[in-house]
Amino acid sequence: MMPAARATPPMINRLPPVRGRLTPGAALGPLTWFRTGGAAEVLFRPADVEDLAGFLGDLDPAVAVTVIGAGSNMIVRDGGIEGIVIRLPPAFARITVEADGIVAGGAALDLTVAETAADAGRDGLAFLSGIPGTIGGAVAMNAGAYGGETGAVTDWVELVTREGWCGRRDDIAFAYRRSDMPEGAIVTAARLLAPAGDPAAIAERMAAIRTAREATQPVRARTGGSTFKNPDQGPKAWELIDRAGCRGLTRGAAQVSEKHCNFLLNLGGATAADIEGLGEEVRRRVLAETGVMLEWEIRRIGRPLPGVSEAGR
Ligand SMILES: Cc1cc2nc3c(=O)[nH]c(=O)nc-3n(C[C@H](O)[C@H](O)[C@H](O)COP(=O)(O)OP(=O)(O)OC[C@H]3O[C@@H](n4cnc5c(N)ncnc54)[C@H](O)[C@@H]3O)c2cc1C
Repeated sequence: MMPAARATPPMINRLPPVRGRLTPGAALGPLTWFRTGGAAEVLFRPADVEDLAGFLGDLDPAVAVTVIGAGSNMIVRDGGIEGIVIRLPPAFARITVEADGIVAGGAALDLTVAETAADAGRDGLAFLSGIPGTIGGAVAMNAGAYGGETGAVTDWVELVTREGWCGRRDDIAFAYRRSDMPEGAIVTAARLLAPAGDPAAIAERMAAIRTAREATQPVRARTGGSTFKNPDQGPKAWELIDRAGCRGLTRGAAQVSEKHCNFLLNLGGATAADIEGLGEEVRRRVLAETGVMLEWEIRRIGRPLPGVSEAGR
């Protein structure tokens, strides 16, 4: 008689012990700005840096690890994410004001960092008030707006790697919407340069940014921010999208924003496949009309549902 095949125990039973929270099958849609997408095989919210470093150091290197911040620049595909998804909890959101800088945890919201800096009369971080992500996401994406960029103000970054190494790096290189952090590194804190400035002038700048954003972006919508990177030369992504007649284009309940056509929207009930498929349709039309192949800025992670093609490629 053949021995009965032994089922592989669920991943949750094979993970290193932690002090934080491990949740199998956690829905990720509610953790993203698009409010759609599948579940994490296991979601990990570490208790603190030591917990995170110990877990990663002891984790089987074959298990995939994905980190998410505020989910304001990503599409989580409908089939969810295999392996571990890490989301830093509020314990990683501390902000400390120093004489010429701000130290912020990886989970601190960019807006809170900008407001804390402004209240303390620290200059140079107002641009962060227009970006709805976390400091971890801002470093990873070299987020920027209104003439400011995260890379330009970063003094050092505290990282935890897959090997469980935890330390500070002041030599990270930044380029347009990317940084060259080691593969799989997680930003647990960063020090941002912020010299003392005139509080009234900083407050004025923050107010101007708020007004400009309200006027030009669908800031209260289910969106992922700028969908495509601006090409190195020539017209901006939104101009190319407009020229290709894609403003207002829909697929399912996904739509190219009428207000800012480099933004995609979930009008309510859109799947990740609708949103990503719409983005691919925009890329096709822009290529056909202008000869430019747009490059995704939004990170698309996870796997499609079986039999469903997001990419449409
Ligand atoms: C309405 C709206 C307006 C926006 N305006 C702007 C803008 O003006 N300028 C701009 O640059 N962006 C803008 N964005 C996009 C987005 O807010 C930024 O890219 C932001 O930096 C993403 O941060 P996040 O925490 O949401 O990251 P997520 O979207 O969760 O993740 C983005 C990437 O960062 C990585 N990441 C997240 N946290 C960490 C971490 N702790 N360590 C390592 N990697 C991490 C993820 O793995 C992923 O690859 C906008 C988005 C929206 C919805």
